[in-house]
Amino acid sequence: MKTVLVAINAKYIHSNLAVYSLRSYARTFGYEPELLEFTINQQKDQILKGIYEAKPDLLCFSCYIWNLSYAEEIIEDIKKILPKVTIWAGGPEVSYDAPKFLKRHPEVDGIMCAEGEKTLTELISYYEVGKSQGKSLDGINGIVYQENKTIHQTPLRDIMNMDDLVFPYEDLKDFEHKIIYYESSRGCPFSCSYCLSSIDKKLRFRSFSLVEKELEFFLAHKVPQVKFVDRTFNCKKSHAMAIWTYIKEHDNGITNFHFEIAADLLTEDEIALIQTMRPGLIQLEIGVQSTNEKTLAEIHRKTDFEEITRKVKAVQRGENVHQHLDLIAGLPYENYESFGRSFNDVYALKPEQLQLGFLKVLKGSYMAEAAEGYGCVHKAKPPYEVLGTCWLSYEEILKLKGVEEMVEVYYNSGQFQKTIRAMEHLFETAFSMYEELADFYEKNGYNEVSHTRIRRYEILQEFLREKEANLEYFKQLMIFDLYARENMKTRPQWANDLSAYKMQILDFYKKEEENPKLLTDYQSYQARQTIKMTHIEVFTYDVINENEEKGAYPVLFDYKKRSPLTNDAKAVFVQL
Ligand code: SF4
Repeated sequence: MKTVLVAINAKYIHSNLAVYSLRSYARTFGYEPELLEFTINQQKDQILKGIYEAKPDLLCFSCYIWNLSYAEEIIEDIKKILPKVTIWAGGPEVSYDAPKFLKRHPEVDGIMCAEGEKTLTELISYYEVGKSQGKSLDGINGIVYQENKTIHQTPLRDIMNMDDLVFPYEDLKDFEHKIIYYESSRGCPFSCSYCLSSIDKKLRFRSFSLVEKELEFFLAHKVPQVKFVDRTFNCKKSHAMAIWTYIKEHDNGITNFHFEIAADLLTEDEIALIQTMRPGLIQLEIGVQSTNEKTLAEIHRKTDFEEITRKVKAVQRGENVHQHLDLIAGLPYENYESFGRSFNDVYALKPEQLQLGFLKVLKGSYMAEAAEGYGCVHKAKPPYEVLGTCWLSYEEILKLKGVEEMVEVYYNSGQFQKTIRAMEHLFETAFSMYEELADFYEKNGYNEVSHTRIRRYEILQEFLREKEANLEYFKQLMIFDLYARENMKTRPQWANDLSAYKMQILDFYKKEEENPKLLTDYQSYQARQTIKMTHIEVFTYDVINENEEKGAYPVLFDYKKRSPLTNDAKAVFVQL
């Protein structure tokens, strides 16, 4: 009998930890399910073809909020071309109200609810031998299934001991150019009303003796990035400290580890440890969601923004950790103005990334139950994104979408750092800057087409012209931002003419070739090569110090010395 597990990921670089974990566990019982991973960007026909050609007898779908609509469509069609196939589904999106899902999909035989490792293994065993021996699916806990048009539900399965999970990565060949996901705990001790993890209160940890071996494996294989999917990684101090200490002591200089944490829980010694890590060794994702106290109380988030501020700033002092802060629009008691305040509060912390998300009203969450009372309406299909609340109209949500887009383009891309920082002084608040920029895009129809990077700078210049800003100064900042990111092959037409400095620049490189003081990483190259590998720009403003004083400021960009946090080239003043 052939079992096939299907995962449909949101992006090519993602991998689906759940199906790998299920397969690894089943293998210890001698079963060898095949995995098929697709992305939502593929044509559905391609997915259908891939599954058809695998010719499964037992076909299982891993369903999440980002792939449910796809999975449902595939499920309906696959039964038409493989009428004998047995179809099961699992994942949070189908576990909640499984009977309803089965009624909607008579072609699906059953749902594996909650953790699937043991359930899948028992199902394979049932279809391979148990069924022909007259056994019943009733003997398998944690499932809802339909037989003869009747829906049956078996008792919930006991939660797994995390140490019983089987490490799914002995072979890394499937994971080239992909993010590796890893779990060292399941469950969350907190109760945020919009989150499904708050329902599973059974917080469990994998023993450090196992985690240590698995981290050693990642480090030995020099994988570029490991994302911990632990819901609140630092909720148990001894666990977090042991892992952070291990990766610090065994750093291979390459691997980056990503953690979702509660910043306010960070302790002084955790921060002290983090500050001693290699820049880029870890990155932290911190959910702030809102700074409005009434909102936080209503969504049962016991966070203290002052404490978050203190901890985020303390981590920042180490200048070695990329911090990603999240906000959610559409929460109860958060109107447009108060969301703007939340935005400004979080923006003031200067995280490397600020993600502005929109509430998703997940089935089974407390938020879904309370939605009506909040006047909260949301999209009918996954991801059930908010369309309006008592406090926030759809029109305001559209405005926030515009702000979100501008933050993605001009802040999170990291391509406009000096320009944006200088622009902030022209506006009352950071929020009003992104709001006005979004309005400008809307007014000029710029949202309807995609833009090159250079065009984004030019649009910013048009916007600044309307604001009557010192455009010459801003153009110089933009040139700095461009060269900090890459050694431009084609100079923008608004860059300074450097021909007057040609000989001085050449002399600089010759002197460095003879006696390297700044270009110490280029000693095996001649001046004519180094001149192409680096860049000297003579600015007419002191852009390094963001000072509007005019003059001649030659700056060397060294692309071999990039910041591990921003990836920007090192930029220093030079004498010509
Ligand atoms: S949002 Fe985060 S902290 Fe809150 S319950 Fe979910 S996982 Fe836990």
